[in-house]
Amino acid sequence: MEGRGGNVRGRFAPTPSGLLHLGNAGTALLAWLQVRSRGGEIVLRMEDLDQPRCKPEWAARTLDDMRWLGLDWDEGPDAGGPCGPYEQSKRGDRYAEALDKLERAGLLYRCYCSRADLLSVGNAPHGLQSEGPAYPGTCRKLSEGERMAREAEKTPSLRFAMPDRPVAFLDGMAGPMAYPAGAGGDFVVKRADGIVGYQLAVVVDDAAMGITDVLRGWDLLDSTPRQLLLAEALGEPAPRYAHAPLVLGPDGKRLAKRHGDIAVSALRESGVKPEAIVGLLGWLYGLLGKSEPVPASALISSFHTARIPRGSVQLPGDWLKQVRTMG
Ligand code: GLU
Repeated sequence: MEGRGGNVRGRFAPTPSGLLHLGNAGTALLAWLQVRSRGGEIVLRMEDLDQPRCKPEWAARTLDDMRWLGLDWDEGPDAGGPCGPYEQSKRGDRYAEALDKLERAGLLYRCYCSRADLLSVGNAPHGLQSEGPAYPGTCRKLSEGERMAREAEKTPSLRFAMPDRPVAFLDGMAGPMAYPAGAGGDFVVKRADGIVGYQLAVVVDDAAMGITDVLRGWDLLDSTPRQLLLAEALGEPAPRYAHAPLVLGPDGKRLAKRHGDIAVSALRESGVKPEAIVGLLGWLYGLLGKSEPVPASALISSFHTARIPRGSVQLPGDWLKQVRTMG
């Protein structure tokens, strides 16, 4: 599939609910390499839908940190472009239109389950495991009378009714993937507080922005079958997906504050050079024989998805010392 003008179009989709850390930087680097190695275009889309959790200063610093790392983009909140606005918080009308289309097709239902239920199963983008148990479909089975009674008590959320068939796709890094019918359960496309679900927004935006290639973290692999089904239900083309390994701490656990200065801006403020971070990441991903300072552009010719490990890569115990001493 090709984007407008026959080009490959990829995207960065940061969520400004915190600062860009080494793991997000690694995924962004790979997404950038994938597109730049094929002469394509990159869109930067700020995924700031959950406004209470997002801060404008984090969004600004994320853009600044990415530029400092040598990663650039062709369209975005700052650069403009034909597919704007590039902040999800400003795209509510597109999501409302898509919800309306799905509702008219009979693919959504109202859910009155408690907030605790919704938090555990509903809107987390990061994979089926992190979401807890699948939603059991309680409100899908309500009779009209039961529904009317609950409606009087509570504002509902909206769920997408998963079709009863398996989903298979070829992931650019994970390989052939197969999910059983209904994997992960019916998911929330609009929360009771009015916030649109991640899955819906990302599908609507990837289609509207002509994205042909999505490269993102392995933790979003399990979101892919849902997004393929949503794209199909909306009559939109789906992009190709590739899920990049997560960067783990030296202890093999997800990156967290206990691993030290993992925020790119903290590393930057402590005098670490962007080339040192790029070199460390390039080596972790198998694109460099050793961890040595290089600009992002130096990795373009060695980039190939087949070279990149599956699932996760692990920082060495002395990673901070390494990047501090690489000048
Ligand atoms: N905004 C999501 C995140 O920061 C990424 C969404 C995606 O790549 O589909 O985790």
